[in-house]
Amino acid sequence: MYRTHTCGELRLSHEGQKIVLAGWVHRRRDHGGVTFIDLRDRYGLVQIVASSETSPEAHKQMADARMEWVLRVEGVVNKRPAGMENPNMATGDIEVEIQKVEVLNPCKTLPFLINKEEEVEEAQRLKYRYLDLRHERLQNNLILRHRVVKFMRDFLDVKGFIEVETPILFKTTPEGARDYLVPSRIHPGHFYALPQSPQQLKQLLMVSGMDRYFQIARCFRDEDLRGDRQPEFTQLDLEMSFVVRDDVLALVEELYTAMLPVVAPHKHLLSSPWLKLSHHEAVERFGSDKPDLRFGMELHNVGDIFVSSEFMVFKSTLQSGGVIKCLVVEGCANYTRKEVDDLTTFAKEQGGRGLATLALTAEGVKGTAQKFIRAEEVAALQQRTGAREGDLVLFVADQRPVVNKVLGALRLLFRDRLNLVDKDVMAFAWVVDFPMFSWSEEEKRWDAEHHPFTMPQMSDLDKFDTDPGSILSDAYDMVCNGYEMASGSIRIHRRDIQQKVFQLLGLSDEEIQLKFGHMLEAFEYGAPPHGGMAPGVDRLIMLLADEPNIREVIAFPKNQAARDLMADCPSVPQAKQLKELHIKADISN
Ligand code: ASP
Repeated sequence: MYRTHTCGELRLSHEGQKIVLAGWVHRRRDHGGVTFIDLRDRYGLVQIVASSETSPEAHKQMADARMEWVLRVEGVVNKRPAGMENPNMATGDIEVEIQKVEVLNPCKTLPFLINKEEEVEEAQRLKYRYLDLRHERLQNNLILRHRVVKFMRDFLDVKGFIEVETPILFKTTPEGARDYLVPSRIHPGHFYALPQSPQQLKQLLMVSGMDRYFQIARCFRDEDLRGDRQPEFTQLDLEMSFVVRDDVLALVEELYTAMLPVVAPHKHLLSSPWLKLSHHEAVERFGSDKPDLRFGMELHNVGDIFVSSEFMVFKSTLQSGGVIKCLVVEGCANYTRKEVDDLTTFAKEQGGRGLATLALTAEGVKGTAQKFIRAEEVAALQQRTGAREGDLVLFVADQRPVVNKVLGALRLLFRDRLNLVDKDVMAFAWVVDFPMFSWSEEEKRWDAEHHPFTMPQMSDLDKFDTDPGSILSDAYDMVCNGYEMASGSIRIHRRDIQQKVFQLLGLSDEEIQLKFGHMLEAFEYGAPPHGGMAPGVDRLIMLLADEPNIREVIAFPKNQAARDLMADCPSVPQAKQLKELHIKADISN
């Protein structure tokens, strides 16, 4: 028997018991003829001790043991001597006096410490991920992940959902990224595509009458890995029949609201019920379709105040159909020239032409726009925005999307700089009424904003031929703290509408048939109205665990260049394998 107890479970109630433990040497201290080791397993740490007087053999072995050796030890649980208790350890009232030690496995010199979290290059951590995962923080992240997923499963089970696995080897399912392709050996020149999501399959499950489906689903998207993305990630994928938008939102809102106190009791919701914003409102007020609602600092449209302004930047913007909006930064009126210049540089990086500023200082109005703005305009501005003495007002004048993007980014910059949020607040909200299509200048065609299976709002159906850009869809996003946490929609379940959408997206009849013939056909066999969504799991855990990126909450993530540094992959296959797959590699470009 390797163990009778785990390291973390021993308490005063075990006093006097003979026990066996197995675990890793977390820390060792020698005091004369007495050696102490903190022995560790996933359940915690326990102090074990041996003295050269009472158990010379065990003492010698413990004194020889090095960090991360794996030991099996036999001993007796003792109450610690008065004053020697350690309140920081769950097992801190006791220690185990060891009589016998068996070394199960030694450990080489470690690439980094396990018993302390030091600054270690991420590449090193990823290469030795199995060692990195010995850190308590990462273990806790995986445990939290388990709890969240288990809660989801249990909750949905009670609500009548059935978990169904769908294939990984499938056909292209467009979600806006590039596909990962898998060559077929049996069918030369043919490829499977790894699903960017189970979107088509979950809809087909609705056609099959499953009514309520979910899956903890892996999605594969070959995207440029800017920022915090992984080539494969996990979603809680769900779909429901005979529902309208608010049925889906209510179900997911109930799930998350019930889950939060169970999996992360220190986190709390911003509001219950959650806020619901239209896409238009979110972008206009917060400069983003995934607004961080934990703080105010909203964007103000002030174009009307400056209709007769002689300030060239404002005047020409309004004349060319642009907008003037501003952000009030509390208490920053005394920013130096350099600080304002840095903000301007930032605004340019975001695609703006620059910034105009107005500082409401105790000595009067200052800033780059001061010369051009009249006193009555300042007064109107203060009244509109609530700006007071001590505040800095930042203006962007440009076309509407640029203005919103630049001010939205500045809003987040000040969120971090001025520490404007309580990190334990989870500001979940819904964003609804998305545009159905966006125009791709590059490809000179319409793109689906969500995915092509999304239902347009019925009242907009007649705009397909006249004004596709103004069609709203029945799509929705769940957002939280500045992140998009989920997307979903009511789906098209009629062949004629689906075909219309594919056509508008520029697909020829042949392509439609080749790629999606099976979907169109299914819709002709009594497809029920249906809808669903897919909340991301990785990002949720990241927020709950206060981690800076999703790699910290995935057991074996790839790095930002999509490599697994531990297994060193992707790697070059053998020539024989390629031959079997009927593939000749040409890596010249
Ligand atoms: N399949 C969609 C996605 O992965 C989610 C959905 O519409 O349910 O974003």
